[in-house]
Amino acid sequence: MGSKNSGVKVFVRVRTTANFAADMIELLPDNQTIHIHTRPDQRKDVVNNQHSDWSFKVDGILHNAPQDIVYNAVAKNVVSSTINGFSSTIMCYGQTGSGKTYTMTGATEKYDYRGIIPRAIQQIFKEVGQQANLALTVYVSYLEIYNETLFDLLSSLTESVGSDGHMTIVEDSHGVHIRGLSIHQVSTEEDALNYLFEGETNRIIASHTMNKNSSRSHCIFTVYVETRWKEPSEVKYLASKLNMVDLAGSERLGKTGSEGQVMREAMYINKTLSFLEQTIIALADPKREHIPFRQSKLTHALKDSLGGTCNTILVANIYGEAAQIEETLSTLRFASRMICIPAEPAPNVHSDRKKLVLNLQKEIQLLQDELAMHNILTNRRHISYEALTENQVHEVKAQVCRYLDGTLDEINITNLRQLRESFAQFKIILQQQGQEIETALRKKYILIDKMNKATSYTPEPVVTETAEETQVGEVTGEGFGIGQAPTSAKAKKIKTKKGKDSTGNIKKERKDTELPSQVKEAPLPPPHPPPPPPPFVPEKDTAQREHEVLSADSAQSDLIIKLEETKPSTPPPKTLMFDVFKNEKGSEINQILIENKHILIEKRNSLKELTETINNIKEEIDITNRALNVKKQERQDQGEYVNEQGDPVIDEDEFNLIMQLKDLKHQYRHDFDTLRDLRVELQYCQRLVDQCRLRLLTEFNIWYNESFLISDDGRNASQKDSIRPGLIPNSRMLSLEEDDKEKFQRIQDEILMENPGSVAFYKARMKLKQRQNYTKAMAQPQPVLIRKKPGMVTQTIKNKPPSIFSVT
Ligand code: ADP
Ligand code: MG
Repeated sequence: MGSKNSGVKVFVRVRTTANFAADMIELLPDNQTIHIHTRPDQRKDVVNNQHSDWSFKVDGILHNAPQDIVYNAVAKNVVSSTINGFSSTIMCYGQTGSGKTYTMTGATEKYDYRGIIPRAIQQIFKEVGQQANLALTVYVSYLEIYNETLFDLLSSLTESVGSDGHMTIVEDSHGVHIRGLSIHQVSTEEDALNYLFEGETNRIIASHTMNKNSSRSHCIFTVYVETRWKEPSEVKYLASKLNMVDLAGSERLGKTGSEGQVMREAMYINKTLSFLEQTIIALADPKREHIPFRQSKLTHALKDSLGGTCNTILVANIYGEAAQIEETLSTLRFASRMICIPAEPAPNVHSDRKKLVLNLQKEIQLLQDELAMHNILTNRRHISYEALTENQVHEVKAQVCRYLDGTLDEINITNLRQLRESFAQFKIILQQQGQEIETALRKKYILIDKMNKATSYTPEPVVTETAEETQVGEVTGEGFGIGQAPTSAKAKKIKTKKGKDSTGNIKKERKDTELPSQVKEAPLPPPHPPPPPPPFVPEKDTAQREHEVLSADSAQSDLIIKLEETKPSTPPPKTLMFDVFKNEKGSEINQILIENKHILIEKRNSLKELTETINNIKEEIDITNRALNVKKQERQDQGEYVNEQGDPVIDEDEFNLIMQLKDLKHQYRHDFDTLRDLRVELQYCQRLVDQCRLRLLTEFNIWYNESFLISDDGRNASQKDSIRPGLIPNSRMLSLEEDDKEKFQRIQDEILMENPGSVAFYKARMKLKQRQNYTKAMAQPQPVLIRKKPGMVTQTIKNKPPSIFSVT
């Protein structure tokens, strides 16, 4: 039974007796094996058990062994390891009178009879004296547990012996200890022995005054050793405790046959010892998670002293006489269970926080001194290494802001704290912007939720009007088609039906549950500040532009992510998304487009003005010519005067008319030249606007397709082809149509000079054309297409009915 390799060591001590039952207790020569032989008739209380032979294997058998031999076998090694930080528990278990107290404390008659405790104290102080490099501190305490009550055997009698009101068992990171138990520092062996004897005396006195039976209590004498290294740099220290436990008699209740107080005591002892046994069984079972330490004061107090990292030694005291064979057997059974407790003793290493702090403070001071010296050597005298003040943090923040808005080119890094604070400020600003953008987006857009489409998307108010009443693009006259997102099957069906409508009148009506129709009235262009010259380079500083692009990017990707998360089965309407695009991802190009349009409009206005001026001059020239002709006729009719050079003589009026005509012609030529230049400029601007619009639409289509239509595979593929937003691959040019108003404007510019009266005519034609376009678009949803400019690729988008709305 049992294994002597276990961490817990078990010794059997046989009490010296003249009547040793050699026929029943067989001690084998290996000094580790005990055979017990009993006859059934001798075991009256175990009627049903016919078993009569037992074998126990232990770590050592001490038979007729004097105290010093016992000490050397049982305690010497573990006591020695106490100084090295190992905690140990030596326990004596056995029936009353079997020699537990004799083993643990010893008899007082003779010095040689002293037990384990005084010998351990002696050894500890001997070893302490031999440690030159270590500073050892020793403490002792003496606890008695009687009827589940804690007694401090080292507190003065008047104070508290007999009451445990102020004592509790507590656990913390350092293990189990008893709060309220007095712990006494001892600097010599004698000191410690005095406490031991005082405790013994207190125990005896208490047993008289309180009518306690001392064999019914458990006593724990503990020696605490703190081992510190003398070098100041060493922060770690060792703390160990040596528990020497004299348990109450283990004899069972039935055998005592006692009553009243004695019986209650016996019951408590039985209970505590059976709890101890349960705890030991639980500890020995590797599958057990819960160990019932708290069932009794004894097991709770010994929680960190049984197995585990603690050296645990049990001395099983047996009587050795035939009459006590039952108790001997019971003690040996307990001992064999104890052997099964796993233990892996390890030193208790702690770190001295006070010392650690002191050491670190010294280290910091040293480094600061060294740094200061280094700074002096490198001429960096004014650098502070203190934590930043509130003002300094404020200054760092201001610097970061200036850096971000471009008014500061570089942040001058002076020390690590400032660097860290700068990063912290960057983070704060970034987070704030993220939040602002998210809030703005949430306010602005309604995201489509697949699960709850009806509630999450609020359709715009339904407008029911015929195509005749309001035509696409009329508000601004700048409507043109772009690709249309595929709609749900239901929506498609409805549209096809509409397309076949014999009247050809398309109504902009739709049911509430449908997505908005593909027709959206263009909003009026927002009032705009005068555009800065030149057209393609808006006068913004780079930092600001980058910042805008950045925030637009993040906002957009945020939006896309949200939309993708919900994976709408029907993509959001292009009209809605185009507005999103113009405000976010495409905001820069949209801005440029708006600015270029303003320039174009301005040029156009100047051209118009100049044309009018030229026409007026032309008219005046005609008038003057006619007046001159009249004068000439008059002159010829009245007979001409010729001067010496043979030139006809003219009157004052005719001369003025000639001069006026000359001026007018000069003016006319000058203005005509200006007009020619202006027209070239206008054409150039027109091209810019066309390019911008094309770019905006192309980028929008790419963005829209990537965000809502193209599968991940498709997106990857398109990335491979390096078709990214911002590039305008010819193959991706989608339906674009020059808006009619602009076309009209251009024609008007060209013909206005020759035919000022044609404006009304062309205006009317433009309206008609728009109406026709709209009707065509609605009646023939697919295929669409539209690019009419030479050199541009025209592409038909299959299954994508046109959407018409305006770019403003
Ligand atoms: P326990 O504490 O287990 O009740 P004790 O230690 O008080 O038993 O022992 C009872 C008596 O037997 C004491 O008088 C003690 O001196 C004596 N005794 C016990 N063991 C031995 C031993 N090994 N050698 C000599 N005397 C012993
Ligand atoms: Mg005793």
